[in-house]
Amino acid sequence: MKDRVIVFDTTLRDGEQAAGGTLNIQEKLEIARQLEKLKVDVIEAGFPISSPGDFDAVKLISKEVRNSSICGLSHANPQAIDRAWEAIKGAAQPRIHIFLSSSDIHMLHQLKKSREEILQTSREMVAKAVKYTTDIEFSPMDASRTNIEFLYQILEAVIDAGATTVNIPDTVGYAIPQEWGKRIEGIFKNVPNIEKAVVSVHCHNDLGLAVANSLEAVRRGARQVECTINGIGERAGNASLEEIVMAIRTRKDFYKLSTGIDTTHIYSTSRLVSELTGFMVQPNKAIVGANAFRHQSGIHQDGVIKLPITYEIMDPRDVGITASSLVLGKLSGRHAFKERLAELGYHLDEQDLAKAFQAFKELADKKKEVTDKDIESVVAQQKRTVSEVYRLLMVQVSCGNGMPTAAVRLSGPDGETLADAALGTGPVDAVYKAINRIVGVSNKLTEFAVKSVTEGIDAQGEVLIRIESDGVTYTGRGADTDIIVASAKAYMNALNRLLSVNRTNKK
Ligand code: MN
Repeated sequence: MKDRVIVFDTTLRDGEQAAGGTLNIQEKLEIARQLEKLKVDVIEAGFPISSPGDFDAVKLISKEVRNSSICGLSHANPQAIDRAWEAIKGAAQPRIHIFLSSSDIHMLHQLKKSREEILQTSREMVAKAVKYTTDIEFSPMDASRTNIEFLYQILEAVIDAGATTVNIPDTVGYAIPQEWGKRIEGIFKNVPNIEKAVVSVHCHNDLGLAVANSLEAVRRGARQVECTINGIGERAGNASLEEIVMAIRTRKDFYKLSTGIDTTHIYSTSRLVSELTGFMVQPNKAIVGANAFRHQSGIHQDGVIKLPITYEIMDPRDVGITASSLVLGKLSGRHAFKERLAELGYHLDEQDLAKAFQAFKELADKKKEVTDKDIESVVAQQKRTVSEVYRLLMVQVSCGNGMPTAAVRLSGPDGETLADAALGTGPVDAVYKAINRIVGVSNKLTEFAVKSVTEGIDAQGEVLIRIESDGVTYTGRGADTDIIVASAKAYMNALNRLLSVNRTNKK
């Protein structure tokens, strides 16, 4: 166990905290199931007292996911701890994670509490939580800016009270690897009962150092890393799970450590999180970016063809990127389609498979070669159709430098057909106005981005949009070989999310 690093994933808590990354309960469950497949040790599923939605999601995930520990975050107060326990008590391995600020900056200006008060509260709250479960994590928030002697004191006190994991968070992303490593080393040397707990780190990426800081901490003895898929999270994000895991694995000669992660699920997990949160992965992102395993230079290409390790330090198959060159087309059957889905890490039930196959056939009629990326996009679209209040049946536009006009036909909440038309400043604007005339929900479009899923003139276009209503952001995505249709699909997707949230709240 000493050589094993515990992977604590906080995609559903800190990751979801990222601006504009709101997920609904089904989406959270889907990500949690994928994290279980990835063999993450601990899933921080949410912050139960923060909202009823978060509470329900943590409770559901605790019931459904059996092979990973499920962790609920909690303030250091009795009500928050009770609420966290209520949400996670159904889990196979429940963990309560209590946090409290310990830096002078936070204590004086935010909490208006003395060190003694902080120390006492920490001790008492851990002691309270221990009555529920023996798996207790404690985080002195803003630890990188906390007085070092006080940090030792607080860690000793919470371990004494029963904390089994002490997490050292670089909440504001201020740490530098060498200095951070010394801080971790100091903890091992100066906290007398430190051997009774696992030391963890939680690093933020404000200076682009989250992964470097996490790895340095591991080198100095930390045995838990808190991270997120694709590095999403508050502000500049958290340490990226895939980067930490692959660094430890690829440089086993250096770290002499391992994780329990099944790396072959890394790529599909990355895609799923990107798809559901609406946060695209930058092409040059390590491990999971579109270009991460692409060689452009002639010398490099020549080398890789002769022997991959000449320029490849990792085998793309190890992270679940299939090297298959088999291209599906309109003559491909259901069996080949299903097989390719399995290779890409998707296991759909019969009903979803039938729908996805139908969509694949429609795409293959328009596009000669259907690539893996097209297939991922097809599957992703099936996922988007879960809670449709309104469904797009048809969109027709006429555009040019005269009067862009759009006509749309939707099916409504009771299956009725609704149609309307509108003028706009351009074709997309006209489509959105026509949809608004039917759906009638006020909202503001805050982001609109188009990208192509694959290369070529017949490529599918993927549209990502964000709309805002009552201060909440909703993401929508849509793909089609026609970008106006893709735009309409993306808008319907965002509107349906907005509507389904409104409906749940009314219940
Ligand atoms: Mn954080």
